Amino acid sequence: MTTIANPPMKGASPAEALGGAPLIRTALPGPIGAGLVARDVRVSSPSNTRDYPLVVKRALGCVVEDVDGNRFLDLAAGIAVCATGHCHPKVVAAIQRQSAELIHICGSDFYYPVMIELMEKLSAITPGDKPKRVLLTNSGTEATEAAFKLSRFHTKRKWAIGFHGSFHGRTMGSLSLTCSKARQKQGFGPLVPMVAHAPYGDVDFIRNVLFKQQMQPDEVAAIFFEPIQGEGGYLIPDASFVQGLRKLCDEYGILLICDEIQAGMGRTGRMFACEHFGIVPDIVLSAKGLASGMPIAAVIAQEPIMNWPPGAQGSTYGGNPVSCAAALATIELVESELRANAAALGPRLLAQLQGISSRRSCVVRPRGLGLMAGVDIVQPKTGKPDVGLRSQILQGAYQRGVILLPCGESGIRFCPPLVISEREMQTGLERFEEAAAAAG
Ligand code: PLP
Repeated sequence: MTTIANPPMKGASPAEALGGAPLIRTALPGPIGAGLVARDVRVSSPSNTRDYPLVVKRALGCVVEDVDGNRFLDLAAGIAVCATGHCHPKVVAAIQRQSAELIHICGSDFYYPVMIELMEKLSAITPGDKPKRVLLTNSGTEATEAAFKLSRFHTKRKWAIGFHGSFHGRTMGSLSLTCSKARQKQGFGPLVPMVAHAPYGDVDFIRNVLFKQQMQPDEVAAIFFEPIQGEGGYLIPDASFVQGLRKLCDEYGILLICDEIQAGMGRTGRMFACEHFGIVPDIVLSAKGLASGMPIAAVIAQEPIMNWPPGAQGSTYGGNPVSCAAALATIELVESELRANAAALGPRLLAQLQGISSRRSCVVRPRGLGLMAGVDIVQPKTGKPDVGLRSQILQGAYQRGVILLPCGESGIRFCPPLVISEREMQTGLERFEEAAAAAG
């Protein structure tokens, strides 16, 4: 199997370079990996959803090395998180600097410069010219949860609307908004009441069905939407849907909450995916790519909306200094070079997926915006979604040294680190096509 060179990352020390990928030296999983998987299975929560037994030792850029010394090309970035690639030297340096100075003091109780700097930065880069306020949390679900509470508090209304296929997190409030897979909710009810769902892409359903049959529009606090539906299948809506949501919310004083947790931070070629549709949300949620893997998330609200009093919301770790430093380094890299790389490579990624789809009848509906692209895997004879075939393709890609993740009913997502080179992307896609050919 051929390998490609790991292109030197700006500022990377050659001693740290892992070398090229893919490079498969053992049967997969290798002996050390297999042993670790056996230990994990005995102690870990059975709720984890591992598609294949990749046991990671270290990673740099788009290359991931397993514990047996096999090297993989990463086209998933830890679910669209490692925007700057794995262990980008500038992010690592920022983490090292900050952790030598201040690891924790609690942003709900005290002040510290790096948190203020990050909130100012997020206010400045989020769509809309007017002043904003920022709440920092630790994870995407907490950001959704906080925005849900804020929307009720601010509007004094109770209903929230989300969309079929959406994913906003797994804590009780965000899980109530999530409507992606039934098993994510099974056994956990009753969930938060007064949450309704509409088909993704259909504003008329809200007007003609929900507002007539379920609630009055002036009882609705917020509409939560993903500008590109992530877990639901990497679905890109028409601009008219997003603009229609903005109009509907303006008409009835409903808060439009844009969940940019997966699609934001330069992934689509713009800082935030909603910028493609020319709208300004009332609240933007950010996480995942925000700090290249350090846990942090943000609720960024237009200033008058975040009017809750001291004590209404808080968190021990939210806005942790080390995560804030990683976020500032990440944003600087995304703004200065990576957003442009996503914009430049996005059309080539889509064109390659279209080519694969034209040659492989099990790979259909290629779609994408920037470095956020997806395909569906179907049974070639019937055209029906084929989850088993998808699993074989994911396994086959792993065996060929490429990391991919599923999405939607039978989709595969392509969300590589934004530092990926065209050569790496092409190699990864060639291996994906080989896996599809072998499986289908
Ligand atoms: N919102 C979106 C769009 C997501 O994709 C996710 C996670 O996949 C979340 C919210 C939840 O984020 P977290 O897993 O950090 O709680």
